[in-house]
Amino acid sequence: MTKQRREVYGLLLEDASHPTANDVFRKVQDRMPQISLATVYNCLEALVTHGLVNQVNFDREPSRYCANLQEHVHFHDEASGRIHDIEFKDGADIMDFLNLPEGAEITEMELTIRGKLPSRD
Ligand SMILES: [Zn+2]
Repeated sequence: MTKQRREVYGLLLEDASHPTANDVFRKVQDRMPQISLATVYNCLEALVTHGLVNQVNFDREPSRYCANLQEHVHFHDEASGRIHDIEFKDGADIMDFLNLPEGAEITEMELTIRGKLPSRD
C-alpha cells in the first residue's frame, strides 16, 4: 500500500459520513498538500478493487465511500441529508425478509432507506 493510499484509507476509517472523492480530497490535503484529485481517485479505486472500501451511490449524486465492511443498511436522513450506517439486529438474516427464489444467493447488498431520525433535543 502506498503512503497516499494509506492516508486516504485512514481518513475513510475515521470518517463515517460517507464522503465523496472531493470531500476526501479536501480533507487529505491537510495532511498531504501536494496530493492531486486524480491521485485521490486512483487511491479510492484501488481501495475499492481490493475490497477495503465500498463505493456507494445514492440517487444521481457523486459516489460516496464507506470503509464499514460489516453488513449494514444506509439510512439517509432527509432532515440533515446525512447518511448513517445501520446494522442488522443480532441474528437477523436478510434472507428471512425477502421472497427470493429457492437457491438464490446474495453476493452483494446495497440497501438505502430514506426517512427521518428522531431529533435529539
Ligand atoms: Zn456505510
